Amino acid sequence: MEKKSSYYINLENDLGAKNYNPLDIVVNKAEGAWVYDVDGNKYLDCLSAYSAVNQGHCNPKILKVFKEQAEKVTLTSRAFRNQQLPLFYKDLTELTGFEMILPMNTGAEAVESAIKAARKWGYQNKNIPDNQAEIIVCTNNFHGRTTTIISFSSEEQYKQSFGPFTPGFKIIPYSDIEAFKDAITPNTCAFLLEPIQGEGGVLIPPDGYLKQVEEVCKENNILLMLDEIQTGLGRTGKLFAYEHENVDPDVVMIGKALSGGFYPVSAVLSKKNVLSVFKPGEHGSTFGGNPLGCAVAREALKVLTEDKLIENSAKLGDYILNRLKSELKTDIIKEIRGRGLFVGIELTIKARSYCEALKQQGILCKETHDNIIRVSPPLIITKEELDIAINCILKTL
Ligand SMILES: *Cc1c(COP(=O)(O)O)cnc(C)c1O
Repeated sequence: MEKKSSYYINLENDLGAKNYNPLDIVVNKAEGAWVYDVDGNKYLDCLSAYSAVNQGHCNPKILKVFKEQAEKVTLTSRAFRNQQLPLFYKDLTELTGFEMILPMNTGAEAVESAIKAARKWGYQNKNIPDNQAEIIVCTNNFHGRTTTIISFSSEEQYKQSFGPFTPGFKIIPYSDIEAFKDAITPNTCAFLLEPIQGEGGVLIPPDGYLKQVEEVCKENNILLMLDEIQTGLGRTGKLFAYEHENVDPDVVMIGKALSGGFYPVSAVLSKKNVLSVFKPGEHGSTFGGNPLGCAVAREALKVLTEDKLIENSAKLGDYILNRLKSELKTDIIKEIRGRGLFVGIELTIKARSYCEALKQQGILCKETHDNIIRVSPPLIITKEELDIAINCILKTL
C-alpha cells in the first residue's frame, strides 16, 4: 500500500469504531465524477456516496450557494424563522406536487418522522386503539440504522445484539401483493417500502406491483409511504422511481442527493392530511430546516432540473444496461438489472474481490449483499466517462 494512504488507514483503524469495512482508498479531493486519493491516484466514482452526490462531487453551482449562505447565517433553530426554509418548501412542493414538507437531516430521521406521522394519522383517522398501530414493511428493506428502523429489518447483522426492538411492524416479502393483502388488519396505518430496493441489491419489483400496492392501499385506507432516499432525485431516470409506474403515494421520504452531498438534508413530503397531524412541540430537530441546508438543497434541486441530470440518467442508464447485457457474458454473472444510472450486477460468487480489482484500475464500486456490484455514478457523468467504467468492468469481470 502506498505511503500516505497507509498512515491514514492505520490511524482510522486504530481509533475509529469499525462499523464499516471501506475499500482502502483515502480521498482528499473530488470533482464531478472523479475522486483523487492522498497519493495522487485518480478514480472514477461509480457509487456516488450511495447516491448522495448525484449532482457530481463539489458541484460548482452548489458550492457557490454553500459559501454565500455560510457567510450569512447557518443555523437559527426552529425557535426562530429563517428566509431559506419557506423558499425551500416552495421550490420542493412546486417540483414534486406534494403539499407539505417536514425538513430533517439524515435519511433515517426522515423515515422515523414518517413513521410517527403515519401512526398519529392512523389514531386520528382510523380509530386504531392506542399503541396498536401497525406498519407493514418488506423483507430485505433498508431504511436506516436507528433502533426503531432496525427493529423491522430482516437483516440479522443489522439487529444482532441491538434489541429489544420497537413493536408495531409486520414484515412481508417484497413484490408479493397477496402477502400484502393478507397482512392488513384494521390496525394497519401504512405500508412503507422502497420502489426499488437499493441496499437490497438494486431489486426492481415486477411491472405493475407498485400500482397494485397503491390500489390496495386506497381500498383499505392505508398510507402508501415510499422511501426514495436512494432512488429519488433522478437516480433511476425519473425524478422519483415511483413515476415509472405512475403511482400516487401519500408520503415520500428523500435525503442523500437533496443536498448534492454538501450537508445532511432530508425531508418528508406528503399530502396535507398526513404531515398536518404534527402540532407545535410534538416533533423537532435542532438542525432540521436550517438556512444553510435549505439554501444548498434549493440549489441542488435546481441543478438536477436545469442541468438535465434526470434526462442524462435515463439516457446513459439505457446505454450502460444495453452494453453490459450484450457484452458481459461470463458464467459468474447471475443477472444484470437497472433503471437509469442505478445498475446492479449480480454475480454467482462474492463480489468484494472484483470491487478491489476495479479499484486497482481506477473504478470505484462497492459490493452490496456480498454478491452484487452496484454501479451508480454521479448523474453528471458523460458518455465518454461512462465508457471508461464499462470497459473496465467488462475487462475485470
Ligand atoms: C441511505 C438510506 C437511508 C438512510 O439514510 P441516512 O442518511 O444514512 O440515515 C434510508 N433509506 C434508504 C432507501 C437509503 O438508501
